[in-house]
Parts: sequence; structure tokens; C-alpha cells
Amino acid sequence: MLNVSNLTRSYGSFVAVDEVSFSVKKGEIIGLLGHNGAGKTTIMKMISGYLEADTGEVSLNELSLKSQTKLLQQQLGYLPENLPVYPEMTVAEYLDYAADLKGMKANKKVAEIKRAIQATDLSAKLLAPIETLSRGYKQRVGVAQAILGRPKLLILDEPTNGLDPEQTQHMRALIKEIAKEATVILSTHIMQEVNALCDRVLILKSGRLVLNEKLATLQHSQHITVKTDFKNSDSLSTISGVKHVETLGENTLHIAISKQEFAQNICSDISKTIIESGASLFEIYPQKRDLETVFNQINNNDYNQEGSDKGVENAA
Ligand code: ATP
Repeated sequence: MLNVSNLTRSYGSFVAVDEVSFSVKKGEIIGLLGHNGAGKTTIMKMISGYLEADTGEVSLNELSLKSQTKLLQQQLGYLPENLPVYPEMTVAEYLDYAADLKGMKANKKVAEIKRAIQATDLSAKLLAPIETLSRGYKQRVGVAQAILGRPKLLILDEPTNGLDPEQTQHMRALIKEIAKEATVILSTHIMQEVNALCDRVLILKSGRLVLNEKLATLQHSQHITVKTDFKNSDSLSTISGVKHVETLGENTLHIAISKQEFAQNICSDISKTIIESGASLFEIYPQKRDLETVFNQINNNDYNQEGSDKGVENAA
């Protein structure tokens, strides 16, 4: 379990990260989102101990970053935005060096390096100097060093940056695999990545944490779409949990409900009413909010947590 409390960091008089607090459980993958300059990298650097916080605390499984820095860092894997690799080193030399930096014991080192190479599919490039690698391969080297030693906390800044589509899939599967035994924080600008990987989303705006929400909850909306030739739509308003029924076009109803948690039951009651009337039910589904739209709304101060009808919804 990672605990971050009241983390603050200024550069001169500019506050880059302002009183940020959150916790992440083992097995969770957290997506750190925010526009350029929102403070994501500064937070990741502080959690990794690479940059000192002005105030605030970080602890991982009861280890304090302040007082047990080395011990905590041994449990941590970090893929920074710009990996400080040595261009003249070969991949094998670099991973050996990275394992030494992590204080890995000799008897464990070889097996761990092999595992990281296999996981990132780097065996063909082991003897290549890093400076000769393509961007995608360099990224894989970065991920390989981050997962050395099976870290309990993995911090990944734009992990699929520069990877081709096949490698992106591979990397996402790898992150999910690692997350079974660890806590993962990843920063990305790619919403599909968040959708594919994350359990929870943290959104930063100007250094402040403005949203900390489960992805599933964030995507919930309080509307149901029904495609039917049922004409007595007023009768659906009497169903428990239905707030409002609107007819959109000839065969589509847009139904506002009072609580998203009851969406399935309400769908079931609506279906029954329509079928029992003898009308046809073509489609019925609770609507989902599109993450990108939610993100933009938060940044434009136009986000409505309750999921109102502001054009934020896309069909599931
Ligand atoms: P990006 O998505 O562009 O990587 P980010 O969310 O990671 O952005 P940070 O790199 O954490 O943002 O930067 C947060 C703010 O702090 C920015 O306004 C940035 O200009 C500023 N900043 C970062 N590092 C320094 C520094 N060394 N000196 C001064 N200002 C800095």
C-alpha cells in the first residue's frame, strides 16, 4: 500500500504540486492524468525519492520515504520520462549496472535480468549499444530496468511512449501482470491506455489533485437509452428510479434515472413494461461517459459529478 499525504513542491515561488494526498492499494493500477505542466512528473519524482518534497509524506508498506529512503527505493521501479541511460553501454551492461544500483545480490541478479529481458522482449538487442537503439527499444530498456527485482511499487511515466501497436499491447499485458503483485502508478496522455489499464484515475490541475475516482464510477452516467416502438413512454416515468423520459426521434427514448447503481434493475423493469405491452424492444443500455470528455470538463470547470445531461455521454 502506498500512502501519499500533503505532498507539496515549489520551484522558487511557483507551486508545482500543492498538498496532494492519495493512497493506492496493492494490485491497483492508478492513472495520473493532467495537462502538460500539471505536476505529474514532479509527483512521480517525489514518490521515487528523486526529488525532495517541501512538505508531505510518502510511505510504502509502512516504510517511510524520509527515514527509510534506501529500503523503500529497493522496492521501487521507476521509468522516468527521460531515462538517464548511458548511450555507449550495451543493453546487457546497462541492465547489469541498473541491478547493481538497486543493490541486487549476485545470486539473484542474473535470473532477474533474464526475466526483465524476456518480459520486454529485448534478447535480440542485448549486445547492442543503447545509442544505436530505436526509440521503442530504448523505451523497453527503460521498462526492463524498472521491473528488475519485482518492485512493490512501479512508477511509469508514459510507458508506451514510442512503442509500436504490438509492443503497446505487450507492454499493457506486462503492466497488468506486474500489478498482480505490486502497486502501479502510470502517467499518460493516452486515454485508451487509461481505459485499458487503470482501476482508478487521479486528475491533476495546476498542481492540485482535483479528482480521485474509480474509472468505472467516472464512466457511469445516469441515463439509459432505449430503442423501441413502444408508444406509451409516459408509463415508464412511474417506474421506480426513473426521473424523466424524453423521446428522441421515432424509436429512441432517453431516460434519466435517479441513481446509477440501480441502472440494471431499472433496465430490467423498463424491459418488462415494454415487452408485456406487446411492443418490440430493439436495444436497451445504460450510457457511459467518455473519459476524454470528463477530463476536458474537469479542466474547464464544467464537470458534474452526478452525471447530468451536458452532452458528456456516449453510448456504451
Ligand atoms: P508534462 O505532461 O508536460 O510532462 P507534468 O504534469 O509532468 O507535465 P511537471 O513536469 O511536473 O508537469 O511540471 C509541473 C510544473 O513545474 C510546470 O509548470 C513546470 O514548468 C514546473 N517545473 C518542473 N520542473 C521545474 C524546474 N526544475 N524548475 C522550475 N520549474 C519547474
